[in-house]
Amino acid sequence: MSLEISNITKVYSGRNGTTEALKPTSFSVHPGDFVSLVGPSGCGKSTTLYMAAGLEPTSGGVISLNGKEITGPGRDRGMVFQNYSLLPWLTVEQNVKFSHQLKANNDYSDSVAEVLSHQAYADQLIEIVGLGDFRNSLPGELSGGMKQRVAIARALANKPEILLMDEPFGALDAQTREEMQELMLLLSVHERTTVLFVTHDVEEALYISSRVLVYSARPGRIIEEIDIPFSRDRELDIKFTPEFTQLKRHLLDLLHGSGSQDRNSILQRLKKTSNSLPN
Ligand code: ADP
Repeated sequence: MSLEISNITKVYSGRNGTTEALKPTSFSVHPGDFVSLVGPSGCGKSTTLYMAAGLEPTSGGVISLNGKEITGPGRDRGMVFQNYSLLPWLTVEQNVKFSHQLKANNDYSDSVAEVLSHQAYADQLIEIVGLGDFRNSLPGELSGGMKQRVAIARALANKPEILLMDEPFGALDAQTREEMQELMLLLSVHERTTVLFVTHDVEEALYISSRVLVYSARPGRIIEEIDIPFSRDRELDIKFTPEFTQLKRHLLDLLHGSGSQDRNSILQRLKKTSNSLPN
């Protein structure tokens, strides 16, 4: 049972004509996998994630979760975005419990026991992400990293089959970012959380993932799939090993070869501009 992405494509239509964002793309995410999508900006990483979330239709191909085709958003997928998307007037605890309460109000299929067990699970999650002492705080009283911990706990509270994370740590400072990477890694090891993760940060992808899919420049397609050879129970120090550095070099070379701004083209443009500037 898994997330199956089969030959999906995406073409956006806008005022300036059409944009081919994604070439036919296929991959699977199995239970317990932590799969990261990396690639140059604009190559279709977020588009892939939004299609898996059911927030954006595909232009072709099929996405299914546990054999069921995805046609819209659902509680079987938890989303975490870069901008936290918390409700500012609710406390940490209320934010984590909110989406399930919404469901409980509209859908009478959950028994009282299920609702209570969900509440207990949500309480545990608040502890796991390290916010036990802040359960009554409002989002405005929290740091960026703490807000993102709330967003992760909230997404996990519905016990989704998979977490879909779009550059979730992009707005955080370097140290907080590493703490969050460690949290996600440990969640995936100990809770077997299954994750599809979008990042432009090669080091983050290598540290956190069990598998990395490298996209080409737009229109994106998978140009390489890397099974990360380190134990899942790895520690931050792994970033200083020669094996890690070698993989990082390899990934950066792939990205530079696939459309990132390279040094020579920047130098050429600088030269052109400086020639045309008055002395
Ligand atoms: P990435 O996440 O890899 O940076 P995206 O998936 O956000 O890339 O975008 C891929 C391409 O699709 C980009 O060229 C972007 O401008 C375009 N795009 C994304 N969303 C839309 C949209 N809603 N309408 C038109 N074009 C879009």
